[in-house]
Amino acid sequence: MKPKTSPYRKILEKKAEEVRHSMSAQKAEQVVSRLDIPSDEGDLSQHHHEEWIFLNRNTIDMKLLREIADALHRMDIGQYGECPECEEPISAKRLDAVPWARYCVTCQERIAARIADGEVIDEYQVASR
Ligand SMILES: [Zn+2]
Repeated sequence: MKPKTSPYRKILEKKAEEVRHSMSAQKAEQVVSRLDIPSDEGDLSQHHHEEWIFLNRNTIDMKLLREIADALHRMDIGQYGECPECEEPISAKRLDAVPWARYCVTCQERIAARIADGEVIDEYQVASR
C-alpha cells in the first residue's frame, strides 16, 4: 500500500458516494414528476425533453462512477497515478483536480483529439489494447 494514494482513495470514495446520492435523488425527483404527468401534447413533449436530460445526466454520472471505480482498482493493483500511455507519473496537481484521471494531461489531450477525429470511440478502447 503506497501511503501517497490514501488521501485520493478517500476523495474518490466520497465522490462516488456523492454521485450515487445525486443519482438516487434524481430518480426520486423523476418519480415525483411522473405522478403529475400532464395530458396535453405540448406539456408531454416538454416532459420527454426533461426525461432526455435526466437520462443524459445519468449517463454522465454512470461514466464518472465507472472512472472512479477504475481509479480505485488501479490503486488496489498499485498503478494509480501512473499514465498507461507514456508510463510517466501523473502530476499531483492533476490528481488533485481530477483524482480519477487515468492519463497525464499530454496523453489525455492526445487521446481526446483522436476521439474527436473519430480514430477511437472511447478512451477505454485505447486502454484495453
Ligand atoms: Zn501520459
